[in-house]
Amino acid sequence: MVNIIKNKSCELYQCAECKLKYESRKIAEKCQAWCSAHKSCNIAIIKHALSEEHKKQLV
Ligand SMILES: [Zn+2]
Repeated sequence: MVNIIKNKSCELYQCAECKLKYESRKIAEKCQAWCSAHKSCNIAIIKHALSEEHKKQLV
């Protein structure tokens, strides 16, 4: 189960394995499925993750 992070303006979804955050729940679920199966990150998935800077803009 991905973590849901609620902001004032939007919801973000966090992979419980690698703690990266995504705007898309589908991608967060993909990331988590990959992370728990492979114990590593898939660059094709984590490129969709929000950067810390992007996160600051949203909060
Ligand atoms: Zn992950």
